[in-house]
Amino acid sequence: MPAIALPRIDAPRCTGCGRCVAACPPRVMWLQATGPNGWGPKQAELHDAPGCTGCARCAVACPFGVIRMERVAAS
Ligand code: SF4
Ligand code: SF4
Repeated sequence: MPAIALPRIDAPRCTGCGRCVAACPPRVMWLQATGPNGWGPKQAELHDAPGCTGCARCAVACPFGVIRMERVAAS
């Protein structure tokens, strides 16, 4: 069943601390380098949206309130 809400990451405010990545049960969040060739500061990214269950653990885990859950329109 598709998630009813997906995490939206306010990327400029993300510190790259990785807590959301550690909190995600299906491991569909990862840290992505923002510069070319894997360099530069890292930011959280939802790399596998279809695999996200919408559990919101990432949003709860983020100490900086960077992630909010956004409802997905029913298809
Ligand atoms: S909502 Fe749940 S499954 Fe989706 S990215 Fe966040 S922790 Fe992972
Ligand atoms: S927990 Fe928040 S600040 Fe840390 S990597 Fe995830 S979104 Fe960024």
